[in-house]
Amino acid sequence: MRDITVLSGGMGGARFLRGLLHGIEHRLLPGVAADARVTVVANTADDLWIHGLKVCPDLDTVMYTLGDGIDPGRGWGRRDETWSTKDELAAYGVEPTWFGLGDRDLATHLVRTQMLDAGYPLSQVTEALCRRWLTPTFGDRVRLLPMTDERVETHIAVPDADSPSGRRVVHFQEYWVRLRAAVPAEAVVVVGLDDATPGPGVVDAITDADLVVLPPSNPVVSVGTILGVPRVREALTATAAPVVGLSPIVGGSHVRGMAEQLLTSIGVEVSAAAVGLHYGPRSGGGVLDGWLVDEVDAAAVERVAAGGLACRAVPLMMTDLDATAAMAAAAVELVAR
Ligand code: GDP
Ligand code: CA
Repeated sequence: MRDITVLSGGMGGARFLRGLLHGIEHRLLPGVAADARVTVVANTADDLWIHGLKVCPDLDTVMYTLGDGIDPGRGWGRRDETWSTKDELAAYGVEPTWFGLGDRDLATHLVRTQMLDAGYPLSQVTEALCRRWLTPTFGDRVRLLPMTDERVETHIAVPDADSPSGRRVVHFQEYWVRLRAAVPAEAVVVVGLDDATPGPGVVDAITDADLVVLPPSNPVVSVGTILGVPRVREALTATAAPVVGLSPIVGGSHVRGMAEQLLTSIGVEVSAAAVGLHYGPRSGGGVLDGWLVDEVDAAAVERVAAGGLACRAVPLMMTDLDATAAMAAAAVELVAR
């Protein structure tokens, strides 16, 4: 195998990608070439405009993580970050104050916004930013593609007693960062998704791959939005490459993040089996051939297999690079058989 395509959100996807690349480099993945290429199709439905700047949280998390610029403790934003600009904006009383824009991180958003203003599409802007973060380490072996160049935004309906409808709609980032996903998500609305066009290279990356991986990313607001871009689902159905996924739910919990709240809002049980069956087997109109669940969910293997997916239980906690590379190896093995 030479060409691997991964459909990624932010933190979960990025951590998986580090393990996958570690596995490739150290020849830990059976049948995968040492010079294998990885194409990341990243979710852009978390993107927002704030203080006049375009911020792309998932693209940046992948870029900083793979480029070793990420803050390892937080798992987002830049390491050795300072927050003077944020403090200064707050001193002016500028709203909103809940979104964390670090000083180093701001440079990325300034460059991105200037390029967008000059007329470059997000895909070209991302390529330019990746020349700093990815090219020095990976050359042209790792590509980062936004799922679409168009504006697509996830909004979440939350309860609001003061509103006549009893609810109000907030941007996904407001739900996650300001409300800390602590209120029920009553509905997920992805504005612009139905009319979006896949970004340049996205459909080909799926069609021409030797392997497609759905990493343990959020099934609703990360992988779910990528799958919702017209023609992406069709590309997955049609590709000759096997498609394998790794469960983001371990022992009925989302490890970290807010997948539980969002799965509940779309009526999917919070379990490794239910998420795999929600993606579904390609033989039955879904997008997967194989699904890995964690060892603690071994009892789910039978149910997933009965639903038409190759399934195995292996450790799925991304505790370090070797553990994560072992997950990637298990994913390759599951569908290479
Ligand atoms: P986000 O965009 O930053 O929310 O990141 P992703 O969508 O890529 O991934 C978030 C999801 O990763 C969370 O909802 C968790 O379910 C999952 N996750 C995080 N850490 C782990 C881990 O160590 N193992 C597994 N299996 N899933 C994880
Ligand atoms: Ca995200």
